[in-house]
Amino acid sequence: MPLPPDLHVHTEWSWDAGRGSMERSCERALELGLPAIAFTEHAEWNKVHPGQHSVDIAGYFDAIERCRAKFRGLRILSGVELGEPHWFPNETAEVLAAGPLDMVHGSIHCIHMDGGLLDASQFRERAGLDFPAAVREYFRETLVMLNSGLPFETLAHIDYPKRYWLDGVGPYREQDYEPEIRAVLVAAASTGRVLEVNTTRGRILCPDITVVRWWREVGGQAVQYGSDAHDPDRIGEGFKLATQMVEAAGFKAAKDPMGLWRR
Ligand SMILES: [Zn+2]
Ligand SMILES: [Zn+2]
Repeated sequence: MPLPPDLHVHTEWSWDAGRGSMERSCERALELGLPAIAFTEHAEWNKVHPGQHSVDIAGYFDAIERCRAKFRGLRILSGVELGEPHWFPNETAEVLAAGPLDMVHGSIHCIHMDGGLLDASQFRERAGLDFPAAVREYFRETLVMLNSGLPFETLAHIDYPKRYWLDGVGPYREQDYEPEIRAVLVAAASTGRVLEVNTTRGRILCPDITVVRWWREVGGQAVQYGSDAHDPDRIGEGFKLATQMVEAAGFKAAKDPMGLWRR
């Protein structure tokens, strides 16, 4: 069984991918026999990390063209991962107008909390943070993004905060946030979005089977896969487990050029 395309990969065109390389990622995708790869660089305008900046979209498109010329046996998809695009409608429109993008992810990384802006990866550094309240705020913000009318097709890493869970606050359980997650899924399904199963470079499935089952229940049509690799060595990591999980939740590999699994 061939692996599906990896539709969420970062390269040197993302500010946080110090080990990223578009060329080596293409080589790795060919080695793995992936049918396609999408380079979905960070298009985001918050400043919560040192050195954080949005993709240089013109330079990025040049790199895509160079790789397409060099790796003719690989389907190379262009893309961006929009971060909180509803907070930056003008910047978002500018990036989307810069050229044809095959793949546009919508992501929430940051929330407003305790009077400031906080990336979920920073939750555990914040002493005394009310984790469940922060996670509820995360899902609320995701719902606002989905209903903002902005043009993105994929809902990326729906339960991103669980990657950064804190030992000692009790385990993350989807059931504890079921109403919030279901509301997000309903909004995604009713706006025709695809749910991403993000394998976090082989570390943790975002989301896991409980949420993919809910996705099916609320009428979600399709699932796609992304490793969120920031390093060529991590491409396609966790995909075997992820496809088995998605199939157990009732979706099947479709004869689909984008590599979707459908109900
Ligand atoms: Zn992300
Ligand atoms: Zn990403």
